[in-house]
Amino acid sequence: KCKNADDVLKAVKDYNVSFVQFWFIDILGMLKSFQITPRELESAFDEGMGFDGSSITGFTKIHESDMVAFPDPTTFQLVAWRPSDRPVARLFCDVRNPDGTPFAADSRHVLKRMLGKASDMGYTFFVGPELEFFLFANSSEPRILDKGGYFDAPPLDLANDVRRDIIFALESMGIAVEYSHHEVAPSQHEIDLRYNEALAMADTAITYRVVVKEVARKHGCYATFMPKPLYGENGSGMHVHQSLFKGSRNAFYDASSPNHLSVEAQAYIAGLLKHAPEFTCVTNQWVNSYKRLVPGYEAPVYIAWAQRNRSALIRVPMYKPGKESATRIELRSPDPAANPYLALAVMLGAGLKGIEAGYKLAKPVEDNIFHMSEKEMRKHGIASLPGSLLEAVGNLERSTLMKEVLGDHLHAALVDYKYDEWDRYRTQITEWELEKYLPIL
Ligand code: GLN
Ligand code: MG
Ligand code: MG
Ligand code: MG
Repeated sequence: KCKNADDVLKAVKDYNVSFVQFWFIDILGMLKSFQITPRELESAFDEGMGFDGSSITGFTKIHESDMVAFPDPTTFQLVAWRPSDRPVARLFCDVRNPDGTPFAADSRHVLKRMLGKASDMGYTFFVGPELEFFLFANSSEPRILDKGGYFDAPPLDLANDVRRDIIFALESMGIAVEYSHHEVAPSQHEIDLRYNEALAMADTAITYRVVVKEVARKHGCYATFMPKPLYGENGSGMHVHQSLFKGSRNAFYDASSPNHLSVEAQAYIAGLLKHAPEFTCVTNQWVNSYKRLVPGYEAPVYIAWAQRNRSALIRVPMYKPGKESATRIELRSPDPAANPYLALAVMLGAGLKGIEAGYKLAKPVEDNIFHMSEKEMRKHGIASLPGSLLEAVGNLERSTLMKEVLGDHLHAALVDYKYDEWDRYRTQITEWELEKYLPIL
């Protein structure tokens, strides 16, 4: 593990590295990368590497397009899917303006700013995401490879070898895997990572998506994080387990509280619940994301919390009740096609707001919400998540908290992009319309 530029320069020599990939991401969380030769590395640490920001989604206008990428030495890793002799290494980068100030639309910066705020309040933010994905025969149609279901073992689970190689690749890149299994839908899988500090975890989520896709490709199939690729089956979520620590103490744990949740944990949950309509456009950023957030598929629709109930937006896992280090909350709405930096930033922003403003937490809803009538829902005061990208982007646009968390530049760029995406979608003529209307109208 490298701590500084000198460690990286030494490692590059020791491993006889051929190229170093510089990684950063656009506002949608898409990975951008360019390669340099090891010769350039020393000056890159000092001066950064320039690139054209106007060609990156959400970055800048053409007249102010010079951006500089500064590699973060603590993120040095050999890339698992490239040859092992003369290996390739990667470094995540912070994006800066030519004057050296952080670039406002750099998602990594946005997350760091929120983590700075948490740290000012005395907290470290830990997260454990569960990224689900599908394996298909190719990228042009959702053709499944097996008919397995939750926890199915071979021969129903045909992807054992793919998952095994993914896990080896992740571990070789310093990413600790807890367990992996076939998921509920056919050809759907999950590999769970050991929880970690949020910035490292956002980097890890990006790496995870690349590793899964590259290893699948080596096995001749296609891995996708598309939230809902199959009609009538579960979609892919990215449940995010989260907790705040003060030093080595879990600030979400309180032995004397009946449900072991501290006052801070309760206010944090209340913050997530209150601001969920505003941040959903970030945690669920695609038109397709909203096809997953429908009743009946273990994805949340209604804004409520529960201790066990998996139809709620927030669940408090009870696997090890009363164990301090395991005390955490699970937000179940995000999907794995989100920008992980921004997703973590908005969740933390909402939770901290709850703590700062002393939000009161409503009672948990332990009944299966999917079986409730409209009337019962109203009685419990349960609202719904946005039903479409259009609704979500409207909420995001109007949210002062989200403007604060994302910063004006990124907030405006994301809102613009998402309105445009919605417009392109709503003018399409879908298969469903043709099948339904053409024969009768
Ligand atoms: N796939 C479900 C979702 O969309 C979750 C299923 C599970 O992990 N039990 O969130
Ligand atoms: Mg899971
Ligand atoms: Mg799962
Ligand atoms: Mg889960």
